[in-house]
Amino acid sequence: MGKDYYEILGVSRDASKDEIKRAYRKLAKKYHPDLNPDNKEEAEEKFKEISEAYEVLMDDKKREIYDRYGEEGLKGRVFSDEGFTWNDFTHFSDVWDIFGGMGDFFRDFFGFSPQQQRRGRDMAIRVHIPLKDVLTGVDKEVKIKTHVSCPTCNGTGAEPGSEVKVCPACGGTGQRKVVKQRGPFQFVSVTTCDVCRGTGKYIEKKCHTCGGTGRILGEKTIVVHIPPGIEDGDALRIRGKGEVPEGGGVPGDLYVYVNIDMPEGYVREGTTLHKRLKIPYPVAVLGGEVEVDTLDGTERIKISPGTESGSQITLRGKGVPRFGGGRRGDLILHVEIDVPKKLSKKAKALLKEYAKELGVETKKSIFSR
Ligand SMILES: [Zn+2]
Ligand SMILES: [Zn+2]
Repeated sequence: MGKDYYEILGVSRDASKDEIKRAYRKLAKKYHPDLNPDNKEEAEEKFKEISEAYEVLMDDKKREIYDRYGEEGLKGRVFSDEGFTWNDFTHFSDVWDIFGGMGDFFRDFFGFSPQQQRRGRDMAIRVHIPLKDVLTGVDKEVKIKTHVSCPTCNGTGAEPGSEVKVCPACGGTGQRKVVKQRGPFQFVSVTTCDVCRGTGKYIEKKCHTCGGTGRILGEKTIVVHIPPGIEDGDALRIRGKGEVPEGGGVPGDLYVYVNIDMPEGYVREGTTLHKRLKIPYPVAVLGGEVEVDTLDGTERIKISPGTESGSQITLRGKGVPRFGGGRRGDLILHVEIDVPKKLSKKAKALLKEYAKELGVETKKSIFSR
């Protein structure tokens, strides 16, 4: 079953969302890495674990999947080069909201706030690939318009040759403390430094290209490796390929949503492909061979005598692989008997002869007059 998210949060299997939220808040405060400077790594590991459990159990859909299939059931929607990651942005904000609240709590009571590195925004793009690329995977070149690091100043924001100094207003912390007296208590609150806008740097002479922001609007070309077996709507997260933040820092991530263009007549179900196969009536009755287009080219298929409409023919290994590659699923052909709309005189005469042989009425009924 993998990790037990209920045990991790210390709640019962039928815990309500309120209970889960409470349990999470308590543990998040206990294990926040910034509050455990002595054993930061251990706290970080634990913190990740409880956040993961929280994200799953607060989402009705994910919780249902988890209850039914365990941790494994949740793997397989968003993929990144480091394995599985969440793409549900609402969850992030959910989690960060709680942090925000916590931050205020610490700011008000201790005059302290967890240090955060500036991070650029995440970006998302959509790419289309044909179904046949799902077999082998494909490298796709994408262009995105975004803020990129300024080439003139290399992102420092300073004109080449000029100096970047520590912001005199905040001493390089990017934050300013404001002390307020409320009754007998002194409260220290921390705000972003308005002189350096949180960067902690003072630029003597601003770069003429970016005006001191360290970034410009530009275009990035990225080659995205789309692995075999990807499904329509899956997203790939590429670390550090999103937007560069103002004043330097860590770029955000790029989410690549993949749409698969299905060829006419195909339906996909995991690794299985389904396709309609129309065969002429005489072939259905007498048996024979027909040609069918598969992802691997045209194939000749044997039809056994007396094949009925709706019967299925399975072509082993002609489907698609699982995510990441491997053995391919099957292609299932759904037989439909082709009823011709137009017939030659001769064909008509032959069919009438055949009908006589069977002893069936072929005159138009009252309904089609
Ligand atoms: Zn610049
Ligand atoms: Zn400053």
